[in-house]
Amino acid sequence: MQKVILLRFGEIFLKGKNKSYFEKLLIDNIKSSLSGLEYRFVKTHNRYYVEDFDGDEIAEFKNRLKKVFGLHSLSEAVKVPTGYEEIGEAAMLYAPDEKLTFRVTVNRADKSLEKNSSQIGADIGGYVLERRPLYKVDLDHAQLNIKVDIRENGYSYVFCGVEECAGGMPVGCSGSGMLLLSGGFDSPVAGYRMARRGMRIKAVHYHSFPYTSEQAKQKVVDLAHVLSGYAGPIDLYVVPFTDIQFAIHEKCRPDYMITIMRRIMIEIAEKLAAKTGCGALITGESLGQVASQTLESMTVTEDAVKALPVFRPLVGMDKYEIMDTAAAIGTYKLSELPYQDCCTVFLPRNPVIKPSVETARKEQAKIEDLASLIDAAIEGVEKIEIGR
Ligand code: ATP
Ligand code: MG
Repeated sequence: MQKVILLRFGEIFLKGKNKSYFEKLLIDNIKSSLSGLEYRFVKTHNRYYVEDFDGDEIAEFKNRLKKVFGLHSLSEAVKVPTGYEEIGEAAMLYAPDEKLTFRVTVNRADKSLEKNSSQIGADIGGYVLERRPLYKVDLDHAQLNIKVDIRENGYSYVFCGVEECAGGMPVGCSGSGMLLLSGGFDSPVAGYRMARRGMRIKAVHYHSFPYTSEQAKQKVVDLAHVLSGYAGPIDLYVVPFTDIQFAIHEKCRPDYMITIMRRIMIEIAEKLAAKTGCGALITGESLGQVASQTLESMTVTEDAVKALPVFRPLVGMDKYEIMDTAAAIGTYKLSELPYQDCCTVFLPRNPVIKPSVETARKEQAKIEDLASLIDAAIEGVEKIEIGR
């Protein structure tokens, strides 16, 4: 009897004429998530199976598979040669010795068998009942539902529990997005959300060395690493931001500092996006969360965008919901580390809550050499490849 993992994918995106494209992406992503492990991948028309692996490693397999977007659920199953005794014996693995109601549900892809699904189900049910006299059959509300999948190749899969996977769409089916990744709670969650919709993620981080530490940068690298467990490989671009921050500090009204910093971040991100084939920018902004995320602030930030859409997947989420997701995806513990981000360097005491586009443009224009500062920042970018 062999332990295997049965994988189910979302029906929605596997319909229609793009089916083979989506399916290839999904299978590629499954395989790259399992790289370094030994196994065999088996594909049938509506399910995949991971087989021939070391049973002691099953937790590692499940852990990785549960992060692959496009997979909706998995089950641990046993694979046996199709036969009454073999299937019966496998079914017993899922049958605790106590009083309960049960049923056996059969899906018969092998049409060469004489009996139909419900007859086979009744046979296997009989096998179980002989060995578990306290059981009672209940087809409608069974406490225990043992499932048998009889395939065309002479083998059957027997399983019981269903474990939820990440859902969403396979990464790569929705183009690439440039994520503005800080060390906070929000932006990693924003990246996760867009990757779940099929976006490949690249990331940009603004670093104000020596005012922000090496540890602050390492934190962002580590966050990108966690994210790449879901999103696949991520190229992280670390932009030296100190000179620009100095210039803003020196030339612009203190209450507009953060506003202008955001505009310049967006401008640089859009330039990097163009260089690296990204079709969108992604931020972790959430409406009203802080002064720089009021409707007026977002309007002024948006004014710095030239062409690309800016996706803000958290815009309508509460901080608590964001934190819950951060905990669930494994970024929370890193995000809560207390290293300073560039936004907190030279922080003005009272940032403007309702900035205007006109004033922001005027204040920004006071930095006469901004274009060359931006060029220099892009010139000085450090590219870190994560998750390859
Ligand atoms: P986060 O938790 O993502 O840091 P936040 O609540 O701290 O968000 P802000 O600091 O106002 O909010 O940042 C808003 C968004 O701007 C962030 O979600 C992120 O997308 C981007 N951002 C902020 N600081 C940086 C940075 N140093 N590098 C790259 N992007 C940044
Ligand atoms: Mg932040």
